[in-house]
Amino acid sequence: MAKIFCIANQKGGVGKTTTAVNLAAGLVGHQQRVLLIDLDPQGNATMGSGIEKSELSKSVYQVLIGHASVKDALQPCPSAGYDVLPANRDLAGAEIELVELKERELRLKNALSQVVQDYDFILIDCPPALSLLTLNGLCAANGVIVPMQCEYFALEGLSDLVNTIKQVHAKLNPDLIIIGLLRVMFDARMTLQQQVSEQLLAHFGDKVFSSIIPRNVRLAEAPSYGMPGVTFDKTSRGAQAYLEFGAEMIQRVLAMDAIQKKQEEVKP
Ligand code: ATP
Ligand code: MG
Repeated sequence: MAKIFCIANQKGGVGKTTTAVNLAAGLVGHQQRVLLIDLDPQGNATMGSGIEKSELSKSVYQVLIGHASVKDALQPCPSAGYDVLPANRDLAGAEIELVELKERELRLKNALSQVVQDYDFILIDCPPALSLLTLNGLCAANGVIVPMQCEYFALEGLSDLVNTIKQVHAKLNPDLIIIGLLRVMFDARMTLQQQVSEQLLAHFGDKVFSSIIPRNVRLAEAPSYGMPGVTFDKTSRGAQAYLEFGAEMIQRVLAMDAIQKKQEEVKP
């Protein structure tokens, strides 16, 4: 059964989509079956996977309002071999339409039950807001991956996200945990970035992934070719870092499974 992860941070432009598409491609590189869900009306993960967002007949929007199943709306990423549940501007309307529907936070979770057996990983690229769309992602997920730049203001936004995750954990999804903080667009020459990175480690310990994603121009160029950086230029430093992060995620999932098994064993 798939493990489901949201890539979330309400701050804009911190590397969520870059992480989502490259982790998807990196996991495929480690022989995992992966579904990537674009939950952002900007449709960047869709375009970055080589799927034209203006030509979608069905998308995650129809899935959320109950007009299509996940299987109906899926498309393969031609270059990297994962599946994509794509998105476009239509999804902006879902925010309003969902308010009227019952179990409005659980629409994605319920829709995914049809496909969880078909994948090892399901990754959800969230929009830069703590909105009803993000809430649907958080309710469907086992864990949250938080990409962040090691800058001064990065830590300020983090407390809002952590509080939201705590509330969702308490009220809607007891399975939800922060699986880890991922340092992205990292430039080791910047003293401030080194300092913030050290603060993160001091504060969050092993919740900080050991993989670090460097600032790398190949990762920024790849979306204009409709490819994840990992397939666009596998030898680049950025691609190698995401492949390493894929391996670390597989290890974390194995560790999560081992803890769960132990807990089940001690239950009477
Ligand atoms: P939004 O909040 O708008 O959805 P986002 O958090 O998904 O944004 P991205 O779109 O992944 O962020 O990244 C923002 C910009 O930074 C993009 O132009 C992307 O190509 C670039 N970028 C992301 N990661 C890297 C990196 N490691 N090195 C260089 N450029 C990067
Ligand atoms: Mg994005």
